[in-house]
Amino acid sequence: MYQKNELLTVTITDIGSDGEGIGKSDGYTLFVKDAVVGDVVRARITKPKKNYAYARVEEIITSSPFRVAPPCSVYRQCGGCQLQPLAYEQQLQYKERKVRGNLQRIGGFDEALLDRVTAPIVGMDEPYRYRNKAQYPFGVTREGNPVTGFYAGRTHTIISGTDCLLGIPENREVLEAVLAYMNENHVKAYDETNGNGLIRHVLIRKGFSSEQIMVCAVINGKELPHAERLVEKLKAIKNMTSVSYCINMDNTNVIMGTEVVSLWGEPAITDSIRIYKENLCEFDGREVTFCISLLSFYQVNPRQTEKLYSLALAYAGLTGKETVWDLYCGIGTISLFLAGDAKQVYGVEVVPQAIEDARENARRNGIQNAEFFVGKAEEVLPRFYKGSAAGNVGEHYGMRHPDVIVVDPPRKGCDAACLETMLAMAPKRIVYVSCDSATLARDLRILADGGYELKRVRAVDMFPQTVHVETVVLLSHKTPDSTVDITVEFGEGEEG
Ligand code: SAH
Repeated sequence: MYQKNELLTVTITDIGSDGEGIGKSDGYTLFVKDAVVGDVVRARITKPKKNYAYARVEEIITSSPFRVAPPCSVYRQCGGCQLQPLAYEQQLQYKERKVRGNLQRIGGFDEALLDRVTAPIVGMDEPYRYRNKAQYPFGVTREGNPVTGFYAGRTHTIISGTDCLLGIPENREVLEAVLAYMNENHVKAYDETNGNGLIRHVLIRKGFSSEQIMVCAVINGKELPHAERLVEKLKAIKNMTSVSYCINMDNTNVIMGTEVVSLWGEPAITDSIRIYKENLCEFDGREVTFCISLLSFYQVNPRQTEKLYSLALAYAGLTGKETVWDLYCGIGTISLFLAGDAKQVYGVEVVPQAIEDARENARRNGIQNAEFFVGKAEEVLPRFYKGSAAGNVGEHYGMRHPDVIVVDPPRKGCDAACLETMLAMAPKRIVYVSCDSATLARDLRILADGGYELKRVRAVDMFPQTVHVETVVLLSHKTPDSTVDITVEFGEGEEG
């Protein structure tokens, strides 16, 4: 076993789940912070364990050919972009390996099958400035001045900075306007150590297709003094559409409060998501428009969301006759994508406000064949299934049996009761959209053992520079009467 502070030379051969470099020394595994795959480094042991140790880079002896200069000056302190020093092409390869590794190790799927069904990861041409939403914390410097920027690592110390490279350039203009308003009007930033001061966070959202911008100040009080002076400054920013404040007087890490006061402009902004053809190169001419209010959930990388959901649509293989269930539907993004090609879509989601948004979004797009239900997928599905088996469809009267089920669960994956009922209902196809390939692999094993075949796997890079990766998978039922095989073409020359 190595000792704390010991120095050793190690070649980095892999990337860990948090983006750290992995190297071996005498069969002993080292997780080296800030090392990049391909580096040879002098590493200092920070935390020794029996068979492995954590370490950090003391010196780079030979720099990896995959190393790039991180464009963000605070990338190290912030810790949000774990992969920034790694060339984008390598980031994409890492994510493909991560998904494949989980499908093999946890899911038990073999190489030959994965080679057959896996299509190349969908990357971005421009892997920065992709986020449509930012929440900047405000605090007080030692000198007592307001500051905004990023939390350092896992702390609440704010590093000054108004231009995160994942966000839109307008963030900086907005934050500088807010700081100027605070300085000119003696408005204090919130100090979480003593609960004094007013401005806690500023939230900024942009509709990428509408270009509309929304700004909301989260405050530790009921009123914003001289609010008109803040509005005056923000209105001067191009495409400003909505200015409000939100009251949050609790001693909590939760950013938003529940009471929103509109100061100027619209209460919400809009954005449209375009549908691509299966090759992901051409638009199919249709788009879905969403209304984004301050508190509603919306995907943060709209350009990649279009690709992810276009793949889900292609995998669903719809001909206009199918009934589709979209479980974990959120504000109905996928449901509304599918509705144009399906006979009927049912969305199920646990957050009531999201379902209200989904219904409103259906109306806004003139979609009449999508219905939404509040509830847990693992409760709504069995209730429907048992009810219909007993000839008693109860509160879900009129809901049709699914030909296709789409799921897009949170990180923990699908509940066992949900998977079991899906198997019992035996839809022809299941499309699984996942933000965690470990739970995806676990769930796919259950579905495969229950009679489904893995047909397509494709990762989509929704969060460049970070270790996160999204995956979309198609499964089809093995029984001969329902093996309607669909053809999905993988286009050449697409992004990434
Ligand atoms: N497909 C949607 C949202 C996916 S995020 C979109 O792209 O907009 C996962 C969603 O699952 C969240 O909206 C969350 O509120 C919801 N959720 C979490 N647990 C659930 C459960 N047990 N049953 C139904 N929905 C759930």
